Parts: sequence; C-alpha cells; structure tokens
Amino acid sequence: KKVGCVKEIHEGETLVAITPQTARKLLKSGYEVFIEAGCGENSMFSDDQYKNIQGLTILEDAEQVWKEVDIMLKYHAPEFNELTGEHEVDLAHEGQIIASFVWPAQNEDLLKKMSDAGVTSLAMDCVPRISRSQKLDARSSMAKVGGYRAVIEAASHFERFFLGEVTAAGKYPPAKVLIIGAGVAGLAAIGCAKNLGAVVRAFDTRPVVKEQVESLGAEFLEVKFEEDGTGQGGYAKTMSKEFIAAEMDLFNEQCKEVDIIITTAMIPGRPAPKLILEYMFDNLKEGSVVVDMAAGTGGNVEVTQKGKIIKHKGVTVLGLTDLSSRMGSQSSQMYGTNLWYLMDEVINMKLAPEEVEKPKRTAEYFDLDFDNEVIDAMCVVHDGKIRWPDCRPKFV
Ligand code: NAD
Repeated sequence: KKVGCVKEIHEGETLVAITPQTARKLLKSGYEVFIEAGCGENSMFSDDQYKNIQGLTILEDAEQVWKEVDIMLKYHAPEFNELTGEHEVDLAHEGQIIASFVWPAQNEDLLKKMSDAGVTSLAMDCVPRISRSQKLDARSSMAKVGGYRAVIEAASHFERFFLGEVTAAGKYPPAKVLIIGAGVAGLAAIGCAKNLGAVVRAFDTRPVVKEQVESLGAEFLEVKFEEDGTGQGGYAKTMSKEFIAAEMDLFNEQCKEVDIIITTAMIPGRPAPKLILEYMFDNLKEGSVVVDMAAGTGGNVEVTQKGKIIKHKGVTVLGLTDLSSRMGSQSSQMYGTNLWYLMDEVINMKLAPEEVEKPKRTAEYFDLDFDNEVIDAMCVVHDGKIRWPDCRPKFV
C-alpha cells in the first residue's frame, strides 16, 4: 500500500503528518511512502532529512501525492485551498483513505463531499478512548502539547519569575497558578508550571483526579458541595447550577490570590462551561494572565475572544486555539507516532494460526476491519456512505 502526506494548507499550520521517524516506521512495515517537497519545513523537518531515507519518494507538488497514494495522512480535515481554488477532496480519488482530524459534528458538508467522492475517512478525533487505543489517541497528544504550551505562553506574557527566590537584588515570591480542569491538558499544564517553580493549585469536578494532581505536587481545591462530576465512561458530566455557582465562588476568591489562570474545562459533545466571569476580573491583579484553552469550544472565560490575545482590566487574556501548532516539531512527532499506530492497527491479520506461527505484520495485509472497534468508531465515511454518528461508541 502507498501512503503519503502533503503540506498542510490550513493557515498558519506547522504540523506535518509524516515525520522522518514516522516515514522510517511506515517503510519498515512494508508501506511505500510519498511526501510533498517542503511538507515538514514548518516543523523543522527539512527535505534533507527525508532525502536520505531509503525507499521514500519526495514529489514536487501536492497533486502528485494525492494521485499516487492509497492512504493520505493529514492533520487538518481536507479543506478548500484558497491559492489553487481547489478543495482537497477534489484531488482525492475513489477508494482512497484519508486519515485526519475531522470533527464530524461540525463538518457535515465535508462528510457529504467525501462520501460523494467515494473516499474513506478515518477521523483521528474519533479514536475511542479505551486503553487499547491509547497509542493512537491524537486528541490526548495534542492536549498534552497544548497544556504545556499554555503555561509557556502565560509565562511569556507574565512579566515576573515563576520561581520564588531571594537574590542580592531582592526577594521575589513564586507565581501562583490556578489550573481549572485536570484532564490531559490540565495535568500537562500542572507539570510544566510546577517545573518552572510556581505554586500550583487545580480544580476539577471529577474527584478521581485529586490523587493525580497531588502526585504532581499541586494542591487540589475542593468546594463544600457534594456532587461527583464523573459521568459515563469516566468523562465529565454537566454539573448542577448550584455546583457551578459554588465552583465560581471558589474561583472568585482564588482570583484575589493567583497570578495566572489556565482553564481547560470541557464536557464531551457540549459547549465548554463558562467559569471565569467578567466580574471576577475585579479581583485579579494587574499584570495577571489568563489562558482559556477552551476558547475553540465556546470558552471557559466570559471575556475570551477566540484566537485573540486581549487585555481586560489590566489582565492579559489568551484565547489561542493553535497551542499545539505553536510547537510543530513536538506535535508532529507525537501525531506522526499516533498515525503510525493507526497504520499498524489496520494491518489486519486474518491468517489462521496454523498458517503462520508468528506472522509478520506488513502493509501487504492491509484491510479495514469493521469488527475492530477502533476502526469501526473512527471510520466516519466509507464506500459512499456517511457512517457517523452511528459509528460513534457510547462514551466518547
Ligand atoms: P476534557 O478535555 O474533555 O476535559 C478536561 C477536564 O475538564 C476534565 O478533566 C473534566 O473533568 C474537567 N471539567 C469539566 N467540567 C468542569 C468544570 N465545570 N469545572 C472544572 N473542571 C471541569 O478531558 P480529557 O482531558 O480529554 O479527558 C478526561 C479524562 O479522560 C482523562 O483524565 C482520562 O482519565 C480519560 N482519558 C482516557 C483515555 C483513554 O483511556 N484512552 C484517553 C484520554 C483521556
């Protein structure tokens, strides 16, 4: 099977789906690999790094790659190219597989376009969040990079040290950081802020994360209100109005103390809850920084402007939605690895045990097996049909 990637056309995107490391792994599994020249240049993977990979082919333009490959690996869902006036799906051919983020709930037109074109779409955002598919869970990879980067962005707008110190030139208190939501992104943010020397506290509606927060050396804040936020499958559920009110009282008080707030609170399939309201900015010190990681899904902070950095009452509010793309090299490495595990997952072994004792997994045995719950959940378009939302497992 031929697999490939093109340069992402999404504005400002730095990620590349196939890094040199991913390319080597794919080749070793028996795939033929084709990439567009310059596809990795925004994530610090120059063509020179790909050139000496034996068996890899670099093609001059995207159209050639689309034509050549059976499987296209991408980060963003196929989109319209302003420069060429063509949609990426128009470059795809019938039977071709495209693995990328899709966000099917927000992209119904794209699903239709892909089904009309007869392509198969494997949505990386639809990987079921079960133990056996963790290796291909790109949402977690991107959340981890994003959580780390949120702290780095906050630090770059915060004009003081994170680490408290006594020096010849004076005594500096440590920065105090509040992290709201301690899922994958929140835990990454806690780890990064702690390592920079800040005093970190965190809050989550799921009491189960208390131990994880504390194991990273942060304080777990609690409200005097009995309500477990753990929903189906271990994910967050929508909390009662009374709980949200109690939570916001806690944050309002915290605003008097903290210098930096990073919000990551999300509920699968719903808009993000609004948790830091405008009136709370009266309590925040001038020069404080708020990073709203939920900016893309409605925002946790009332004043957030999606994609923008604003000042409100002397506080810098970051509504960035491209945090993982601001670390293109790291994100590409993690995403590329997730994609390689996907390609490994679809090398379907249908050999009877007596046929081969220890069968070698190679691209020769490539097959989309819909009895495989991971493939079944991810495949949102196939054979001219839109499979989503029927393919969606119960708890994602
Ligand atoms: P997420 O991005 O959907 O949400 C982030 C966090 O916000 C969650 O921890 C949630 O509890 C919290 N939250 C929601 N409403 C809130 C509120 N009102 N106030 C404060 N916090 C609120 O979550 P995520 O990081 O994608 O994943 C959550 C959990 O799912 C992880 O901690 C992990 O246990 C599990 N998970 C499992 C797998 C797997 O098994 N493959 C993969 C990823 C995540």
